[in-house]
Amino acid sequence: MKAVVYDDYGRMPELRDVPEPECPSGGVVIAVKATGVCRSDWHAWKGHDPVSLPHTPGHELAGVVASVGSGVRDWAVGDRVTVPFVCGCGLCSWCLAGEAQVCPDQTQPGFTGPGSFAELVAIHGADTNLVRLPASVDFVTAASLGCRFATAFRALTTHGRLGSGEWLAVHGCGGVGLSAVMIGVALGARVVAVDVNPAALERASSLGATAVVDGGAVEDVAAAIREVTGGGAHVSIDAFGSPELAVASVRSLRRRGRHVQAGLLLGANATPPLPMDLVISQELEIYGSHGMPARDYPAMLALIDGGTLRPADLVGQVIRLEVAGAALATSDQASAAGMTVVSLGDSHPGER
Ligand SMILES: [Zn+2]
Ligand SMILES: [Zn+2]
Repeated sequence: MKAVVYDDYGRMPELRDVPEPECPSGGVVIAVKATGVCRSDWHAWKGHDPVSLPHTPGHELAGVVASVGSGVRDWAVGDRVTVPFVCGCGLCSWCLAGEAQVCPDQTQPGFTGPGSFAELVAIHGADTNLVRLPASVDFVTAASLGCRFATAFRALTTHGRLGSGEWLAVHGCGGVGLSAVMIGVALGARVVAVDVNPAALERASSLGATAVVDGGAVEDVAAAIREVTGGGAHVSIDAFGSPELAVASVRSLRRRGRHVQAGLLLGANATPPLPMDLVISQELEIYGSHGMPARDYPAMLALIDGGTLRPADLVGQVIRLEVAGAALATSDQASAAGMTVVSLGDSHPGER
């Protein structure tokens, strides 16, 4: 089969022929129809998040079940599916409680094993991790949910408990951030969006953000948000992942506010100096968000099926597998163009 492979950190990935994956016991092999290009893949490629080499990236996938391993109950060849980027083992107490996103024996396609920048990908624990796609959700849209949109959805609903009329601050308007803006607006919140890229702020406004803060022009982003929101945001998310944004996010909260860390903080960025004095005196809540388990997808898919959420609007470009490696190599660069999704299926409207 064809797959995108890199042999060393930072070396340009290549499309080449590799052996097909074996179907794991309890798992499936999926014929990939679409797969997202994500900054998490870029972190692995740069060596920030070590993987075994050579490596095939890709963790935001949708496709069709191509083969089914022994012991799988619920899935058959031909089923249209997606998966969370964290796949639980299906056996441990966390998975049995529906919390597969923190499974100690988790697998992640594109990190713990070969990923979905390939014609076929193996997925473990099918009965725990596969998500059936409604007929109305096409593969490119489904791939765009895999990590950023689902992470934002869970960050705001499960962790943030964001309510109608509340203020949401979104720090960083990339894939997670713009997803958070869209979801926040759909939940009836007032959204203030922060970025240093004016085009990203324009995009946030067009998605319904009430206010924007240009982080490159304002001395104190947190103070600007407290001003705009009349005392601070009820919920704030670092949707990019940097010590500065994490601190600003916590400082932009009102009393009893909830900060959710969704952007990855790795290596030298792993220990931001969060103001724990404020966390105590104002009883702030701090959450980490690690994707969303398959169990929680149906609620999100119902809002997409009904048209309340329109993740397809966040897809900026659809590309072919031949250029996926080059797209990955530049996926750290600030862009307001929206998410890039690789299509391996039949030609798709808007495909380039
Ligand atoms: Zn588990
Ligand atoms: Zn991702």
